[in-house]
Amino acid sequence: MDYTHFSIGLTGGIGSGKTFVSDIFSQLGASIVDADVVSRGLTVSGGAGIEPIRDAFGDDFITADGALDRAKMRERVFGNPPERLRLEAILHPLIRDICFQQAKDATGDYVIFANPLLLDLPVWQGMGTRVLVVDCPVELQIQRVMQRSALSREQAQAIIAAQASREKRLAKADDVIVNDREPNEILKEVSRLHVIYLKMANGLHL
Ligand code: ATP
Repeated sequence: MDYTHFSIGLTGGIGSGKTFVSDIFSQLGASIVDADVVSRGLTVSGGAGIEPIRDAFGDDFITADGALDRAKMRERVFGNPPERLRLEAILHPLIRDICFQQAKDATGDYVIFANPLLLDLPVWQGMGTRVLVVDCPVELQIQRVMQRSALSREQAQAIIAAQASREKRLAKADDVIVNDREPNEILKEVSRLHVIYLKMANGLHL
């Protein structure tokens, strides 16, 4: 399955503000297809990912009510690349298909594929006509993650270190929102890009 209409691939590190930014695009009229949301839906009780995960990893990773035991799986795959790849080989093709299906069903002005791994793995490449990176200084990422998720500084730093670097992401960006300012400033920046994306979605040359 594929998606051939104009679309945006939105990415950024943990706590950079992907959801914050995509919520504004959504209010302006874009349709957001969020890979994290799709992924969570696959691993709740009765989700399409549960039985394949049970087959591959065993009953231990499924809770009594039939959902993925996230804490146990996190423990298993964090810092264990072969196991992480095994889990991703199950989930990523399913996530990709559902994202494309949601994009096809979307009714907004254009689609934004929000995906933290957009630039990290080949499976996500080509999702989005343009790449929009939400960027912010690492120290601000750490502060936001600590505040929001009650993680320690060390835990936040470990997650950031496991993700693509800021430089790598920026090198692949068509557009960048530097999310280190007041919400009002970000709203202005998103609105400016939205006008450009609307024109592109309608095939107008800029
Ligand atoms: P994750 O990768 O963990 O899903 P994310 O990139 O989607 O993170 P958000 O959840 O959008 O990041 O933002 C992280 C936190 O920082 C949230 O609590 C959000 O409200 C806050 N935040 C983001 N941008 C701003 C901003 N410009 N001003 C104030 N708070 C912000």
